[in-house]
Amino acid sequence: MRREELQRQLGISCPSPEQLIKPDWENSQDYQISVKRDDLIHPLISGNKWRKLKYALTNLVESGIKEVISFGGGYSNHLHALAFACSKLNIQLMAIVRGDYSKSLTPMLNDLRDWGVKTTFVDRKTYAKRNNPDYLAGLNKSHPKAAIIPEGGSQQLAISGVAELILELQDSYDFILTPVGSGGTLAGLITAENDAKLIGIAALKGEGYLEQLVSELLPSDCSNSNWKINHDFHFGGYAKRTEALVDFCEHNRQQLKIEIEPVYSGKLFYAAKSLIAKRAFPCGSRILLIHTGGLQGNRAHNITAP
Ligand SMILES: *Cc1c(COP(=O)(O)O)cnc(C)c1O
Repeated sequence: MRREELQRQLGISCPSPEQLIKPDWENSQDYQISVKRDDLIHPLISGNKWRKLKYALTNLVESGIKEVISFGGGYSNHLHALAFACSKLNIQLMAIVRGDYSKSLTPMLNDLRDWGVKTTFVDRKTYAKRNNPDYLAGLNKSHPKAAIIPEGGSQQLAISGVAELILELQDSYDFILTPVGSGGTLAGLITAENDAKLIGIAALKGEGYLEQLVSELLPSDCSNSNWKINHDFHFGGYAKRTEALVDFCEHNRQQLKIEIEPVYSGKLFYAAKSLIAKRAFPCGSRILLIHTGGLQGNRAHNITAP
């Protein structure tokens, strides 16, 4: 199946818009600030998850694979996007979920149930083995026909899908900012070898660890070292938030008419606002923020893991 056909079948709308914004942030008048609206790619197949899954899904369809195993937390945008795509493509998804939510499904897990996903809840210790070769070999043995897609969809196959985002850009930029979770998105952008400096905004506590994840995903012939990860805006960790962050998301929703949420895009925009306020970029810089989508994860306001 050709990719264009797959996009049509799933209702994907690419290229996504590139939008100049005029925020009311301190010093923002001295910069050109744009947003790549990957949140508009699809209402359910969240922005960067589509880019990361596109080649994996094309391969599954082309090779006639009908079972997929993947991993995520109880609010995972990756599992949500993958589950919806699989339901449309008649592929059985088996989701391995960190934590036992069986007594109170999150909105995300409710959707998975409605889309026919088989969900297995595992404790943290088991979940920690998600990339362990022996554990994966065991899964392969019990599900010989299934393809395994890693957490977040971050795998080598994801890289070229993400790199296409850069090829879509109409304008040139000095800085491109993107949130970082499992590193696949940043790695993909790095391989596109654009002139812009890439700045990942860590959405979780992971200094050193996140840089390593990104480096491991880069192809060995990648020569772009014009990137770094900023660790100042994780707000205490993954899905951790403060009232100030939540208020900031709400304020931007009203002022910019762009929906952002506190797990990824909120931290990205907050970082941009703070860095611009302290003039961390040279005056006149052209700055692009990658809105990676993920608004479904915000349906439960008090995110807790069992
Ligand atoms: C998964 C996700 C990210 C993180 O992307 P990685 O490739 O895992 O670093 C960022 N934003 C949103 C909305 C996501 O769902």
